[in-house]
Amino acid sequence: MHSSLTCAMCGTDHAVDQLQNLCTECEKPLLAHYDLDSIKSTFTPDVVRKRTIRSMWKFWDVLPVNDPSEAVSLGEGLTPLLTCNRTGPFEAFENLFIKDESFNPTGSFKARGMSAAVTRAKALGVETVALPSAGNAAGAVTYYSARAGMGCAIFMPEDTPPANIIESVVGNANVNLVNGLISDCGKLVKQGKDRFSWFDLSTLKEPFRIEGKKTMGYELAFDFADHAGTTDLQLPDVILYPTGGGTGLIGMWKAFDEMEKLGWIGSERPRMVVVQAEGCSPIVKAFEAGEEHAPLFKNAATCAAGLRVPIAVGDFLMIRALHESGGTAISISDEALMEGVKEMSACQGVYACPEGGAVWKAAQQLLESGWIKPEEKVVLFNTGTGLKYNHLFSVDGLPVIDHNDPTCLDRLS
Ligand SMILES: *Cc1c(COP(=O)(O)O)cnc(C)c1O
Repeated sequence: MHSSLTCAMCGTDHAVDQLQNLCTECEKPLLAHYDLDSIKSTFTPDVVRKRTIRSMWKFWDVLPVNDPSEAVSLGEGLTPLLTCNRTGPFEAFENLFIKDESFNPTGSFKARGMSAAVTRAKALGVETVALPSAGNAAGAVTYYSARAGMGCAIFMPEDTPPANIIESVVGNANVNLVNGLISDCGKLVKQGKDRFSWFDLSTLKEPFRIEGKKTMGYELAFDFADHAGTTDLQLPDVILYPTGGGTGLIGMWKAFDEMEKLGWIGSERPRMVVVQAEGCSPIVKAFEAGEEHAPLFKNAATCAAGLRVPIAVGDFLMIRALHESGGTAISISDEALMEGVKEMSACQGVYACPEGGAVWKAAQQLLESGWIKPEEKVVLFNTGTGLKYNHLFSVDGLPVIDHNDPTCLDRLS
């Protein structure tokens, strides 16, 4: 259980035993801190390995519970780290990996964050949660709140992928479509929350979604130890992360820091790479301009729904992680990222989401420019399943075989 909640910007302490959103002083995100010294002797890599918990709650000591039985869980986390085949365009990479988050409940890594946030909200007596979503957060919040017996109000841009909308409607969430972007949806949540007694679960405006997502950082350390056949935890050289609100990136960065304080790893860190879509790349733009904050990206447009986040309250935390890690930021066109989806599907057997396609194309570009070396250990985050984006492909015109025609197979190659 966390021992403090402090503002990532001004450091102001906030009470741990009550509901919190942004810092009441400066409206920046709050981060949870744990008394790592006091759990050091009981929370060790060996202890974690021996646990039989089959979810991210294996790391419950650094999550918002006193006991793992308190978790609202659907089996999130513990996703596979796949070694990439060296075929076709992947050939030049000697050590390329996919952390395949499509295995999560509701098909994306949003499950990790929502499991932690709903767990904490439930413990503090919340009856109804609300949030804006550009896609996968909607499904995750719908099913975790259902599991917890809570109500849930969702605000989504009207052009959110149909699979995301259907998933939430079936799960009996209160689904509201909005003629705007996720930032407009966020404003509606803010306006309605007192009136309807909602607890706001917006990305980084709530301190525990990031705690759930940080478990990706913990898992990578175990995954790479397993891969190397050792018990010594280790991290890759480069992590490419498809970045919207940045929860996962900031979360992993926090996890590495915690693991160092626990004595699990040393001071070396992966270079973190923010990957965005050309049509919505506020962090790339700010990073390139040497700014600490990223203003609203106008006319944000991309088919990678998870990347359509034109303004992020955690901008400065992402940009800090990029600087501290010696990382970089890169944007990919929609055309290229869809090509990336097809390449990951055909060469790796992973039906990637467009966001996953984007990180693969970013890795390719960074290898070509020499920023990534062929032998480096590089992780691509496939953050969700391609199945939620079936609407982006058309199979019209696929011929139908007449099985009554005895020559019907003659035309096949
Ligand atoms: C939400 C989402 C992202 C962006 O995640 P953040 O941690 O908010 O930056 C990337 N990919 C997919 C599939 C998503 O659903």
